[in-house]
Amino acid sequence: MAVGTRKFIVVVNEDWCKGCEICVAFCPKNVLTMNKGKVKVDNPDACTGCQLCEIYCPDFAIKVNQTEDRTS
Ligand code: SF4
Ligand code: SF4
Repeated sequence: MAVGTRKFIVVVNEDWCKGCEICVAFCPKNVLTMNKGKVKVDNPDACTGCQLCEIYCPDFAIKVNQTEDRTS
C-alpha cells in the first residue's frame, strides 16, 4: 500500500540544553541518550512523536517536528 510514512524529527537546541536528562527519562521509546552533558537523538526511527520530551523539557531545548515521507 503506497501511503506516506509518518516520520518525526527531534531537534535539540544544544545551547539551551542543560543536560538535566528529564527528556531521556520520559521518552517511552529510548530515543534519547546523553552525550557529553547534552541530549543526543540516538534512535530517531523509534520516535512515535508523543512529544513528552518537548512537553517536559524545562528549557524548551527539544522540539518534535513531523514530516511526511511519500513514496512515489
Ligand atoms: S516525541 Fe516521544 S518518542 Fe519521540 S523522542 Fe520525544 S519522548 Fe521520545
Ligand atoms: S529535558 Fe531539555 S534541558 Fe533537559 S536534557 Fe532534555 S533537552 Fe536538555
